[in-house]
Amino acid sequence: MATPTTADGRAQLPPVAQIQMVDLKAQYEAMQEEVDQAIIDVVRSGAFINGPAVKNFQAGLEDYLGAKHVIPCANGTDALQIALMALGLEPGDEVIVPAFTYVASAEVIALLRLSPVMVDVDPRTFNVRAEDIEAAITDKTKAIIPVHLYGQSCDMEPIIALAEKHGIAIVEDNAQAIGANYTFSDGKVRRTGTLGTIGCTSFYPSKNLGAYGDGGAINTNSEELAAKLRMVANHGQSRRYYHDVVGCNSRLDSIQAAVLNCKLPRLDGYSDRRRAAADYYDAALQGLDGLLTPQRQANSTHVFHQYTLRIDGGRRDELQAYLREAGIPSMIYYPVALYDQEAFRGTAANNITSLPNTDVLIKEVISLPMHSEMDEATLRYITETVRAFCS
Ligand SMILES: *Cc1c(COP(=O)(O)O)cnc(C)c1O
Repeated sequence: MATPTTADGRAQLPPVAQIQMVDLKAQYEAMQEEVDQAIIDVVRSGAFINGPAVKNFQAGLEDYLGAKHVIPCANGTDALQIALMALGLEPGDEVIVPAFTYVASAEVIALLRLSPVMVDVDPRTFNVRAEDIEAAITDKTKAIIPVHLYGQSCDMEPIIALAEKHGIAIVEDNAQAIGANYTFSDGKVRRTGTLGTIGCTSFYPSKNLGAYGDGGAINTNSEELAAKLRMVANHGQSRRYYHDVVGCNSRLDSIQAAVLNCKLPRLDGYSDRRRAAADYYDAALQGLDGLLTPQRQANSTHVFHQYTLRIDGGRRDELQAYLREAGIPSMIYYPVALYDQEAFRGTAANNITSLPNTDVLIKEVISLPMHSEMDEATLRYITETVRAFCS
């Protein structure tokens, strides 16, 4: 694709209002007829709850993930909560979670009166590592929540080995990485979310597979857990009006499922386009002093839910202001460590109040626009603006 240039050869400023963190409108326009029809079909059928669209999506996602059971639910946070409830954990049981993540990963632990144990992450991949998890394991540890942050798998093989050794469940927070593949040392390739005991994902509109409202899903290969997950998500009932456990009410509605049915066959294409944008960013942003592009692991594909840089020397907020001035949006995922959130202060079962990598990352990370519709002119403009800031 040709990039428009000015007379002196610089990248021409694209219409500034068009640069967005996530471009859901352009993605919709590329499949408008199909998605409009799918939504109208649900409305005309009147099957708003648990209609055929939901069943189709469940089967489609089982197939896509290579998971035996998918349980659709209302959102990604519910997915995590239902997963922990189905594991039958007791108040005081410890759950290991990275301190550098979205709040939902830890919120559900506290909500269920379980004890969060917060651990550090790798400074280049932003993901939890087996060695940090191992150091945090006690005889109360019952579950680990690895978060595949920004779209790349945690290095799961050693984490799985640890979990097996200690008899601990793994609940993967796959909200940002749906579509990523992890390769084991024996060459076996599996989707993120299917590597642990239970996988959880979100279809929040800006996620890589986003609905037009809230949505989520849980998956497992265990028949027994699948039955429990379904029961918990449906008022704890195994048959209508007989409630065996205290559950919740968490459903994916049919209109959202219809939208997701249109998007699921396109997901790998979306991931490819995100990766192509990341390749452009990587190449154009090499060799800048104190600026680190995101590290890719050899054993995981990256689906770039976010493209996240690190910039040192206390310049991050300045860079963000500079970009804003140039009409370029950016986001700070995440500006506060879990242990410094008011809601979680003093709650870490391992008494953590600071962790070396997390404390640096919250000050250095900045995420650039990233979605399935990035074009070269915009990428060129953004990267030239970042380069101008760094020079
Ligand atoms: C989005 C997200 C969630 C929560 O998903 P919702 O559908 O918004 O409830 C959980 N964990 C991570 C890492 C997320 O990015």
